[in-house]
Amino acid sequence: MQWKNWSGSVSATPQHIARPKTETELAALVAQARKVRVVGAGHSFMPLCETDGTLLSLSELEGGISFNADKSRVWAPAGWSLAKLTSVLWEEGTSLINQGDVNPQALAGAIGTGTHGTGASLGSLSTAARGFRLMMPDGAIVTCSESERPDLFQAARLSLGLVGVATQIEIDVLPAYHLEEKVETYPLEDVEARWDELAAKNRHVEFLCFRTASTSSSKR
Ligand SMILES: Cc1cc2nc3c(=O)[nH]c(=O)nc-3n(C[C@H](O)[C@H](O)[C@H](O)COP(=O)(O)OP(=O)(O)OC[C@H]3O[C@@H](n4cnc5c(N)ncnc54)[C@H](O)[C@@H]3O)c2cc1C
Repeated sequence: MQWKNWSGSVSATPQHIARPKTETELAALVAQARKVRVVGAGHSFMPLCETDGTLLSLSELEGGISFNADKSRVWAPAGWSLAKLTSVLWEEGTSLINQGDVNPQALAGAIGTGTHGTGASLGSLSTAARGFRLMMPDGAIVTCSESERPDLFQAARLSLGLVGVATQIEIDVLPAYHLEEKVETYPLEDVEARWDELAAKNRHVEFLCFRTASTSSSKR
């Protein structure tokens, strides 16, 4: 069966594509496989998920969210899309601290590649990660955090899928908030001149540059 990433720039023919529903099923798949890669939404442009072995998707793995006492952190299924996660968090009166441009990415895929949004004082999704529940090649479960196996924790925060299969991730959240979006058009020179001011005044700011005959360079 052929697999392609979102853009079609990476393709592979895995021997087996599996969507385990339980950790027991997942453990059997991992233990039996010669080679394992895990895929989230396949949005990465680099060949991170390509394999001729077993390709795993955790999108159907059972599980739900679990908050800490003051609802500042939540354990969530690593295979959930950010769209699903933010919808469930919203129902509970909480929001992620930051996100990128789109939300189909799996929580584990976004964290594993350091997916970031904008915001001068806001970190990437990896910086909000507080703990991981990881399945090792023999099917054993290991947990890690800043205080428990700290080296593994730091590696898992930007793992590129190399330190085990994440089944659950603990992440910081905020009380639910709305953002107001303003879209305005300026000459590139004005954006460059006002960039520091715009970044200081707004929680988020980004720009897209559309080339015209008088524009000699393109930036994002
Ligand atoms: C339209 C579009 C817009 C984008 N916008 C932004 C943006 O605004 N900001 C930004 O920073 N990036 C952006 N990206 C990049 C995207 O966020 C990253 O490539 C991200 O990794 C995609 O998540 P994914 O779930 O598709 O991961 P995948 O590409 O499926 O996987 C990424 C990595 O995570 C690993 N992985 C996935 N699941 C698990 C798991 N359960 N356990 C262990 N490892 C796992 C994979 O093995 C792989 O190494 C964008 C991409 C696209 C296509």
